[in-house]
Amino acid sequence: MNVPLAMPDLSGNEFIYVKQVLESGVLSIGPMIKKFEEMICSLVGTRYACAVNSGTSALHLIIRAMGLKSGDEVITTPFSFIASSNCILFEDATPVFIDIDPFTLNMNIDEVEKKVNHKTKAILAVDVFGQPVDMIRLREIASKHHLFLIEDAAEAIGSAYNGNKAGSLADAAIFSFYPNKQITTAEGGIVVTNNGELAENMLSMRSQGRAETGQWLTHERLGYNYRLSELHAALGVAQMERIDEIISKRFNVAKQYNERLKSIQFLEIPKIHPLVTTMSWFVYVIRVESSIRDTLLQYLTDNGIGCKPYFTPIHTQSFYMSEYGYKRGIYPVTETAGDTCIAIPFFTNISDCEIDYVVETLSKFAPMNK
Ligand SMILES: *Cc1c(COP(=O)(O)O)cnc(C)c1O
Repeated sequence: MNVPLAMPDLSGNEFIYVKQVLESGVLSIGPMIKKFEEMICSLVGTRYACAVNSGTSALHLIIRAMGLKSGDEVITTPFSFIASSNCILFEDATPVFIDIDPFTLNMNIDEVEKKVNHKTKAILAVDVFGQPVDMIRLREIASKHHLFLIEDAAEAIGSAYNGNKAGSLADAAIFSFYPNKQITTAEGGIVVTNNGELAENMLSMRSQGRAETGQWLTHERLGYNYRLSELHAALGVAQMERIDEIISKRFNVAKQYNERLKSIQFLEIPKIHPLVTTMSWFVYVIRVESSIRDTLLQYLTDNGIGCKPYFTPIHTQSFYMSEYGYKRGIYPVTETAGDTCIAIPFFTNISDCEIDYVVETLSKFAPMNK
């Protein structure tokens, strides 16, 4: 049996809406992107949204709109997908990493203020694996030091911490719609914000620096083509119609895994902070001793089970080490997480049979070098 690591759920109106867009002849800058942005705003509770062609573009627009530049420092986490730090490098600003909390794997908030100095301009937090970070505490710290607060909620659409939706308490936050995320537009991302000035700036920059009301060939600032096409937005609208169902189905898959894997000695199931009031699961990541991790990855692969080590810490990526002088050993909690985590098959429509197979295969693994 083969069980993939991830699979999109396209069982709603996806085909109908994409066909409608094709028939309408309006393939970009049309009604679908507006509709999609409205649906995201109403889910998160923010005033503005700016849909773009990837989560990475969304992050880049935020960094640009905030005017972050060479010499500015942004406090962030090394335990993330690389884009959350690359977006800072795009503008020649400096990511300043802090280690993570071993329980949630999110940035260790106790470390933030130790890194604040006159160069610090922003905090960029990441909701790792869908678990929202404590944005209330981060908000207090950001306000106290007059810093921008950015939330990379790429993995956490619909999650909530203490009743606050992921993305709602940041100056600007992003979601990603890559096919392995909770909902997908094939490729795509979005910025949400309550700041009208940032929103206007980003909406202009995603479309060549045009003014919203201006002429087609009038450009008032440096811009990009980061637009999301109507076809992609149509997928997004169809996915958003079922967001509650998708989140709850994924919650139930995680619950089944939790119940069935917790008795297996050699692994640990994910830990969720009690103040997380809605957990929108992105991936399901187990942890094992680093001495058996690679053997287990190979064993699962040999048995047709999709799996990946999530994440390789950003500061240990080769070009971060060679170009910026990072070394192993400086963020021990992050490195331990990087050496012990394994994402196993997790998607909205995974079947009971597939779950059975994953659980049974895992339970038959005999960790030899233990
Ligand atoms: C997926 C992801 C992104 C980037 O999204 P893309 O749409 O692939 O560009 C950024 N940050 C995190 C934490 C992610 O998981």
